[in-house]
Amino acid sequence: MKSAWVDSDAEALVTQYAERGIGRDLALRVYTTRLLGRDPQLVLHGGGNTSVKTRLPDLMGDDTEVLCVKGSGWDMGSIEPAGLPAVRLAQLRKLRALDKLCDEDMVRVQRANLLDPMAPNPSVETLLHAFVPHKFVDHTHSTAVLSLIDQPNGVELCREVYDGTMGIVPYIMPGFDLAKKAAEVFDADPKVEGLILHKHGIFTFGADAREAYERMIAYVTRAEARLQKGRKAVFVSAQLPQAAAKLAVVAPLVRGACSLKDDAVDGAVRRLILDFRSDDAILNFVNGAEVARYSQQGVVTPDHTIRTKNWPLVVPAPADGKSDDFKRGVQQAVQAYIAHYRAYFARNNARFDGGKKILDPLPRVVLVPGVGLFGLGRSKKDARVAADLAQAAVSTITDAEAIGRFESISEADMFDCEYWSLEQAKLGSAKELPLAGQIAVVTGAGGAIGSATAKAFAAAGAEVALLDLDENAAKAKAKAIGGAAIGIKCDVTDAASVRAAFDRVAETFGGVDIAVSNAGAAWQGRIGEVDESVLRESFELNFYGHQRVAQAATKIMLAQGTGGCLLFNVSKQAVNPGPNFGPYGLPKAATLFLVRQYALDYGADGIRANAVNADRIRSGLLTDEMIAARSKARGLSEKDYMGGNLLAREVTAEDVAQAFVAQALALKTTADVTTVDGGNIAAALR
Ligand code: ZN
Repeated sequence: MKSAWVDSDAEALVTQYAERGIGRDLALRVYTTRLLGRDPQLVLHGGGNTSVKTRLPDLMGDDTEVLCVKGSGWDMGSIEPAGLPAVRLAQLRKLRALDKLCDEDMVRVQRANLLDPMAPNPSVETLLHAFVPHKFVDHTHSTAVLSLIDQPNGVELCREVYDGTMGIVPYIMPGFDLAKKAAEVFDADPKVEGLILHKHGIFTFGADAREAYERMIAYVTRAEARLQKGRKAVFVSAQLPQAAAKLAVVAPLVRGACSLKDDAVDGAVRRLILDFRSDDAILNFVNGAEVARYSQQGVVTPDHTIRTKNWPLVVPAPADGKSDDFKRGVQQAVQAYIAHYRAYFARNNARFDGGKKILDPLPRVVLVPGVGLFGLGRSKKDARVAADLAQAAVSTITDAEAIGRFESISEADMFDCEYWSLEQAKLGSAKELPLAGQIAVVTGAGGAIGSATAKAFAAAGAEVALLDLDENAAKAKAKAIGGAAIGIKCDVTDAASVRAAFDRVAETFGGVDIAVSNAGAAWQGRIGEVDESVLRESFELNFYGHQRVAQAATKIMLAQGTGGCLLFNVSKQAVNPGPNFGPYGLPKAATLFLVRQYALDYGADGIRANAVNADRIRSGLLTDEMIAARSKARGLSEKDYMGGNLLAREVTAEDVAQAFVAQALALKTTADVTTVDGGNIAAALR
């Protein structure tokens, strides 16, 4: 591993922060924390922390000796001084005299001694930083170091590799006891330049920022060099099908199996989002004949457990054209996983007199031989984190097995981390949005109604895919929504284009739960004289387009087996024809009945079909110029024309979007047509 330290960069940051009144110590602490945080071989998603002992004025202006230590919720790769809250060092050091300190009290003492009471919680490893004397302390979960220490003979390997330059601390869960033990190990030999925390990670010390950082790089490099010695070939591949099934076929089957009916709400399902990874290293790992052994030993470092659970799910290899076999195999594997997880919880909860509350028992990492791996989470963001950690575990375990045998901490130790109140707090207790875990696809998403609808679904917690004939418009609208929203080109008049777009959605998020078939365009003509080609063209888009989208969505929903929701934009034309709008209204009327047919044919599968019957919305169909012309022709102001309904209120694209969201949330409603037109008695249904 190469050092990324650049003198001129370090000095530039010192100058930049000096202008904001931030001292050299903290500026350099920020600099090397970022260097460590940007290397996924060292730090991933909160796994690691750093500190500096310095002096700062407190709120009264009194010069105070403090420990600036990484605060929870900050990413090391992009940390700012505010992410390193200052804690009174003398108070922290006093704690070492205690025999015991429970986690809650430790957090309380740390918070009570913050210089700024509004600062984030200092890291759970703060006391370890405070109990060693060095000015700069760096901590990472380096994959190379983990490969060395996640071994039955990890301690001997470290002695061989580090030859007395590093202290070795036995495995203890992070917190007060670990901090005390680490300080004891250091005191026994104060010459050491850092500590190896068995089956957890590495600490390095320095008198300045560069020394602590360069020692981290040097000691990680030693571990890397040892991993290259005496390697055996891993892994021997299992016998796999000639051709693996496609990702777009595999993902919905995995996702459907990895979901749970919500016992509290009839019809509700707890779903997860998927994030797929595959490369040579992952395939070598998941294809191994012994994957069921080495993948099930446990986590590579304890804090992964809250994101990945202790064990990934291993499913059978999916053969092309045999998706029914794969579906059965995955379902059996998930049921076995859930039973195993519940037994693990019961076994370990007994040690706490049943005082813990079980988390959902679904896997967060799924290994698919011949294909790759999935990270799973309640959002795309969480799924990505799980996949990142799973990829790091693949690399750690592969190297560990190449020089020996991978071994994790005990099941009881993993449980203590997974159900540790401080780790649970990291995940946050914010209430979830109503559509969390769901995937919504919107067609015609480049236009006013489509983009407003995608935005509303994202705001309700769904992951959204925006489909449009105009790829740039779809991408621009997705970018405006932000998060994991994606824009995809889709021509709903072309079945292959629709299938390809839905495949992309399944590959990206794992499946589809809600499809809003919104794309449409208005053709006009007096019905007795209009050219048949105009009528056919309109049917192609305004009827067959909806059918293609609904069919593609239904296929994925049936594969998942967790129901779903089809939503259609049918115009008021479907109910109440306007003069010369036959070519538009007739296919829309057919689409209204398409909604009912889907509701009828797929109700037993839990797939609902509903429609919104909107009118007079400013959009691509009703442009500003058309509004100006029509209101003028009727002798009305634009406002009176647009509000020409029973409520005298202009109806907006956002109103239509909210109606779609409401239909998606109404679990007992299907074959519904919701009128969003401000009141038009001629277009009222029944
Ligand atoms: Zn750690």
